[in-house]
Amino acid sequence: MPETPVPSTATSGPLRILITGSAGFVGSHLVERFLNEGHTVIGVDNYISGQVSNTDLFSDHPRFTFIEADVSHGIPYTGEKLDWVMHFASPASPPHYQQFPVETLMVGAQGTQNGLELAHAHGAGFFLASTSEVYGDPLVHPQPETYWGNVNPIGVRSCYDEAKRYAEAITMAYHRSRGVNTRIIRIFNTYGPRMRPDDGRVITNFVHQALRGEPLTVYGNGSQTRSFQYIDDLVEGISRLMMVEYHEPVNLGNPDEFTMLELIQVFKEILAKDLQIRFESLPLDDPKQRKPNIDTAKAWLKWDPEISLSEGIRKALVLG
Ligand code: NAD
Ligand code: UDP
Repeated sequence: MPETPVPSTATSGPLRILITGSAGFVGSHLVERFLNEGHTVIGVDNYISGQVSNTDLFSDHPRFTFIEADVSHGIPYTGEKLDWVMHFASPASPPHYQQFPVETLMVGAQGTQNGLELAHAHGAGFFLASTSEVYGDPLVHPQPETYWGNVNPIGVRSCYDEAKRYAEAITMAYHRSRGVNTRIIRIFNTYGPRMRPDDGRVITNFVHQALRGEPLTVYGNGSQTRSFQYIDDLVEGISRLMMVEYHEPVNLGNPDEFTMLELIQVFKEILAKDLQIRFESLPLDDPKQRKPNIDTAKAWLKWDPEISLSEGIRKALVLG
């Protein structure tokens, strides 16, 4: 493996980029970034966990087209040569993927293979959105990419965790055996505008509960930790990884770690008021801790998250 970043051949000039999951939270921010950079974007989504409003943001843009399709059944793209296929389609919030476990497994398995086949046919790069969930309930802390994880293969989160582990495996297989120019990122908890209000993830819940004056729902005793990244930092990391030839997984997350009770404290300080808490039962297999080791991203991408939790939550409270 080379020690210094090697510029990628798949990034020069205006690009044609197909993004699955374009109507979702992360996908819609990628569409925006790539259109702003002058690229042509084809979004694909079946709205299982996305929002039509996220497609409507770009529907008048001359370099954006949208295909409504379930990518597990195929990606019906027949246009000009693609430079990148970016596979971001998958329910990502625990309530969503647990409501659609089979669909989640299929989009990680068949959806990923369909994306890889499309990339292979076009000689395009393939970019996989994987997740910190591949580490399961981690026994190594913080989590480096070399950690293989501690995943319950039959638990309620397994539809998501194992789908993404398979997705990573098939991506590496297409890279090794068919020469596809692949990238894999493991995204740690990311938040920002354009998440569905009923998304169910903790920052979305807290933002909407705080704005409505409702108690904040803490699952378990609130001692479990997460490390929260603002969407703009993630998008920057993704853009930088496209520009270097690095095919192994890269953690993208903000290493600042908070318990859920500390997270509430941040909301209290920003809103300068006391917030009621309602304790609810801890979901099954809820990971006790999570914090990325981002040494790989620092070394290869010269990337470090810039937006602190309190700055990001201020933005999220304003933007919804
Ligand atoms: P999201 O639910 O907002 O977006 C996912 C999008 O994929 C939705 O628009 C959904 O309708 C679409 N989709 C799902 N299955 C599909 C299918 N079969 N065909 C077509 N479209 C389909 O979730 P998100 O937070 O934007 O996550 C995007 C990606 O990033 C996912 O792959 C997720 O696993 C990954 N990720 C996100 C986070 C995070 O914190 N946001 C963390 C880890 C990984
Ligand atoms: N959580 C919580 N209250 C909520 C939603 C989530 O306390 O209203 C907790 C959840 O139990 C988990 C953490 O917040 O420990 C992060 O949950 P989320 O669903 O955002 O993402 P996860 O990292 O579990 O996929």
